[in-house]
Amino acid sequence: MVLASRRAFMAAAAAFLAAGRAIAAALKVPAPGPSDTCPVCGMFVAKYPEWVATLVFADGKVAHFDGAKCHFKFILDMARFDPAHRRDDVRTMAVTEYYNLDKVETFAAVYVVGSDVLGPMGHELVPFASATDAEDFRKDHGGKLVRSAAAVDWKFLIGLDEGRF
Ligand SMILES: [Zn+2]
Repeated sequence: MVLASRRAFMAAAAAFLAAGRAIAAALKVPAPGPSDTCPVCGMFVAKYPEWVATLVFADGKVAHFDGAKCHFKFILDMARFDPAHRRDDVRTMAVTEYYNLDKVETFAAVYVVGSDVLGPMGHELVPFASATDAEDFRKDHGGKLVRSAAAVDWKFLIGLDEGRF
């Protein structure tokens, strides 16, 4: 019975994905402790559970960030923020989805920038598991969609810090 329902679920999930409405799957990553600070800006991370982004290296080291913005800065300039690691050493990275706080793979998430929702460090990339969710959020809070995180570069992040989207 359990197997049958699991098969039914998998079939439904496959049909859903085939319909082109891709939704990023929720990941499991460690939660930050009270003494964990963001390696980019130095803020204590556990105070902002709804914004936390987490990166796990293959050697087991974990970095937590107070938002997707610091997380992307770290990814784009790892030589500066963590000279002991390289991009190839990353095993898992995830951001916190805005609506239900699921952990979503950083590059599978869809983001909204320029909305009226601010993070701990001001303007943020607000993460969503699907473009549909991001679009719903945008209708309520303004801003614009970033459909591919691969388009996020350093210039874009500095613009975000300065309120340019
Ligand atoms: Zn930070």
